[in-house]
Amino acid sequence: MKVIEIKDLHRHFQDGDQEIKAVNGVDLSFEKGEFAAIVGPSGSGKTTLLNMVGGLDQPSEGQIIIDGEIMSELSANELIDFRLKNIGFVFQAYNLIPVLTAEENVEFTMLLQKRPAAERAARTKELLTKIGLGDRMKNRPGKLSGGQQQRVAVARALAPKPKFILADEPTANLDSKSTANLLDIMVDEPTANLDSKSTANLLDIMVELNEEEGVTFIFSTHDQRVIDRAKRIITLEDGKIVSDERTA
Ligand code: ADP
Ligand code: MG
Repeated sequence: MKVIEIKDLHRHFQDGDQEIKAVNGVDLSFEKGEFAAIVGPSGSGKTTLLNMVGGLDQPSEGQIIIDGEIMSELSANELIDFRLKNIGFVFQAYNLIPVLTAEENVEFTMLLQKRPAAERAARTKELLTKIGLGDRMKNRPGKLSGGQQQRVAVARALAPKPKFILADEPTANLDSKSTANLLDIMVDEPTANLDSKSTANLLDIMVELNEEEGVTFIFSTHDQRVIDRAKRIITLEDGKIVSDERTA
């Protein structure tokens, strides 16, 4: 079953007298349970595409249909509700709320959805335990490493059981540290037992959630290590899809 259908999507920006075709005629669909990477050089349109799929930006032309719902036909308020119910976001800069603890950050979207307190607490504990931060629930983001903050962001996105998760270069800030490799950085203590859940890296957690909970993940990246783990690789160049391959 198709979760997302994208039809002849365009997003053009005006830069002085120049028109930038950031997304230039994209046709694409995603099935439930996919673990798909959108790859391509900087400036190829990855962020612009994900922002439109997430309802954070409006297409210049074309359509996005999510679970049979045509996004452009929703009113502003309906769109807010729709996003809250259906889409989880993981941003490059984590975007956790600094004054809230890890637990409160994860609870936040469920609170907006007016879920009962007992359900919120149970789901929060389940997710934070799953991502190996069961003992850090009371910590604020400032007390957590970048990798831990990003795992909290993944838990927060998952908490309300969205239809899919959009992650725009979720590991970009994690691999910016010198030349050390991405997977080691995402593991908190590179020397610790790598197969224990508490130190499992972000990518492992995403793969596990995809396989165990059937969560649909669509993420952009230009990191080869992340690309290697994707089950479908969609390559963008100059706002167009130049290849779309399934690897699993
Ligand atoms: P990527 O995420 O693949 O690096 P982006 O989607 O951010 O690419 O950008 C695609 C192109 O659109 C780039 O040329 C970028 O400069 C341009 N662009 C993105 N957002 C805007 C904007 N708000 N105004 C003008 N140009 C933009
Ligand atoms: Mg980008």
